[in-house]
Formats: sequence, structure tokens, C-alpha cells
Amino acid sequence: MAPKVVVLGAGFGGLELSTILSDRFGDELDLTLIDRSPHFVFGFSKLDVMFGRETPDAVRLEYRHIVKPGVRFRQEAITAIDPAARKVTTDAGTYEADVLVIALGADYDLEATPGLVEGGNEFYSVGGAERLRDVLPTFTQGHAIVGVTSTPFKCPPAPSEAALLLHDYLTTRGVRDACEISLVMPFGLPVPPSPDASRALLSAFAERGITFVSNRLVRSLDPARRVAILDDQSELPFDLFLGVPKHRVPAVVAASGMTVDGWIPVNPKNLQTRFPGVYAIGDVNSVGTPKAGVFAEGAARVAADSVIAELQGGEQPPAYTGEGSCYVEFGANRVGRVDVNFLSGPSPTGSFLDASTALVSEKEHFGSSRRRRWFGL
Ligand SMILES: Cc1cc2nc3c(=O)[nH]c(=O)nc-3n(C[C@H](O)[C@H](O)[C@H](O)COP(=O)(O)OP(=O)(O)OC[C@H]3O[C@@H](n4cnc5c(N)ncnc54)[C@H](O)[C@@H]3O)c2cc1C
Repeated sequence: MAPKVVVLGAGFGGLELSTILSDRFGDELDLTLIDRSPHFVFGFSKLDVMFGRETPDAVRLEYRHIVKPGVRFRQEAITAIDPAARKVTTDAGTYEADVLVIALGADYDLEATPGLVEGGNEFYSVGGAERLRDVLPTFTQGHAIVGVTSTPFKCPPAPSEAALLLHDYLTTRGVRDACEISLVMPFGLPVPPSPDASRALLSAFAERGITFVSNRLVRSLDPARRVAILDDQSELPFDLFLGVPKHRVPAVVAASGMTVDGWIPVNPKNLQTRFPGVYAIGDVNSVGTPKAGVFAEGAARVAADSVIAELQGGEQPPAYTGEGSCYVEFGANRVGRVDVNFLSGPSPTGSFLDASTALVSEKEHFGSSRRRRWFGL
């Protein structure tokens, strides 16, 4: 009888792992992939939606298109996980697994930043990006802040991208001269592992008159006075606040007892948790890579190889290196690329390819190749 694999979460990590196991085992696989959403949306599509470059419908990839041997998709909300018994409860039933993979990503806690809901906006969820489509056209003058409220947060270059794309958006609308843009980031540099990428971003900010506020977090907003209060108690007035909300594991993961300091610890070599037969890949774990799709995908490859070795009795795969390439929108129809490696050496290293139109096509190919591989579209 085929071993039962249950994959929780059909994001970057869950989709890639299910695809690899289907390619390997075909009909001999018995894999259930569970997600509460009917569709997947790439993280970077949220920027496209908020700035009106794509419609919300155009960026949704419906899970009903997944047709893979041995893989069954279930649209259900996961309500409990028992990692010791490898048992999962959803709003529609229960599942028992020989191999359980947790790929549930990171959720947001908007209430953790007082004033954010009442006085600001967030652009990290699909809903937030959709709302901003309607808010941004009403902004014609004043101070816009793109601000990070806590660490860790997904895709560390994304706030820089949002500031640069906002510059383009306001320029196209002819109101840039009446607006200021500030970017509040918790790091000394925009992309700490890559000094070259950071230099390129800092000079792009300087050329466009974007103020980079380094080593600071936005702790709260005072909607009545329209000021953002930073972690050193200094204040920045704002007319438009675009926030990166506090991240946390989904509530069902927190309730499962698997987390330590907020995230699921794993063996960095193969992404196994301390529970036998249970893996945690992507944003939900604390392996030490940034929370980004490329790393979730890389982790999925290593975890899949480890599952294959477990099921077929072979050798464990080479250890996870935490490598990945992130595309960075510079505006003006140019994209740069940061190549980083987080786990091979004593500290993270990175290199940078200058922003170009050629990399716009490469980023498009990154998206379309995943669409084809995961959804057959
Ligand atoms: C603005 C922005 C830009 C980004 N740009 C990039 C980029 O250019 N490159 C890049 O690599 N990354 C980027 N990212 C980050 C990337 O989107 C995430 O890091 C990536 O999606 C993480 O993959 P994952 O598989 O861990 O989780 P996710 O892709 O988040 O998938 C988790 C899944 O679990 C499901 N789920 C959660 N809880 C439950 C539950 N209780 N029941 C059922 N299902 C549940 C969710 O519906 C979701 O589909 C960006 C993110 C943002 C916000």
C-alpha cells in the first residue's frame, strides 16, 4: 500500500514538494494537499495588484487546475494538528499520515501595531493589496511612509520595492512633486547580506528623493494626529501609511505545540521537526533563511528528497544550503537580482546583478515556469 503523505498548505513550499513527489512516485503516491484557499497568489503579485499593474482576478491561480498523479487537493481549513500522532483535523474531516509536511506559511497580526487598522494600510495580504488599489488613487499630496512594524518579515526587499514603485506611480500621476516618501526599515542596509544590492537600492532612493530611515521599526500609529511612532519614540507625520504587519505562525500551528520562540524549529539539514515523520518547510519554520518563496521552494526540494529516502530506504540527501535568488523591482521597468546563500558558511553571503530589462523577462519566466509546473497552465 502506498504511504500516506499529507501536506498542509499549498503555497510555494507545499506546491513544490507535492510536484516533486508526484513526479517521482506517480500513481503509487497517496498525497493529500490541503489549503483553505481556492487559489494561490505569488507574493510579488501583491505589488502588481496594489499599484494597478494587474487585476486581482489575473493573479489568482486556481487549485482546481492541479492534476497530478497521486495528488488530491482538498479545500479545507485545518483546525488541529497532532504532530506526535501525525493526525490532522479540518473543518471537513480528519487525516492520518505516514509523512506529514507543515507548509502553512506566516499569518499577520495587525492588532499588534496599535493604530495600524484604524489609521494605516498593509500591503502584505491579498486583501490589503486589493484595498490599496482604491486608496492609492486618492493620495495626491503629503507624506507617504512605507514602514516595517516587526521582524522577521517576508521578502526583505519588498518594502524597498514598494517605495520605488510608489515613486513611479506618483510620478505617472503627475503628483510626485507634492509628495514625500520615507522607508522605515529595521536594518542598517536595505538588503544586509548583499552590500552591492544595498548600494544600488540606496542610490536609487537618493536619485528619487526617497528617505531611508535605517535601524528603526514602526511601533504604533496615532491616527488622530497622523503620526507614526518609531521604536526610539521618535515620530514621523504621515498622510499615507503602507505597513508591513507583524508576522506570526497560523493559530493552528501555535496551538499544535510545535513552536519555539514563535516558529517551528527544524533540523537545518533536512527540515525534519523533532516529531518523527513530520517536516516543516517555508515561512512557518525558523531554519535561518529569509521568509521568501524561493527559500520555501528550496526547502521543499530538500524535504522531498529526504521523504523519498525515508520511503525508499536510500541515503539522506545533501544538506540544505539555504540558497536562493530574489528579484527586486527597481521601478522604471527594471528588475535586479540578489543571489544569497544563508546556511553554507558562518554568515550569509550575497551577490547582485544590476537592475535591467533583461531581468524583467527573467522574473516573468520565474513566475510562468512555476505556473506551468504546479498548475499545468
Ligand atoms: C509583498 C510581497 C512580495 C513578495 N515577493 C517575493 C518575491 O519576489 N520572491 C519570493 O521568493 N518571495 C516573495 N514574497 C514572499 C513569499 O510570498 C512567501 O515567503 C512564500 O509564499 C512562502 O511560502 P510558504 O509555502 O512558506 O507559505 P505560503 O505561500 O504563504 O503558503 C501557505 C498556505 O497555507 C495556507 N493556510 C494557512 N493556514 C491555513 C489553515 N489553517 N488551513 C488551511 N490552509 C491554511 C494558506 O492559505 C497558504 O496558501 C513576497 C511576499 C510579499 C508579501
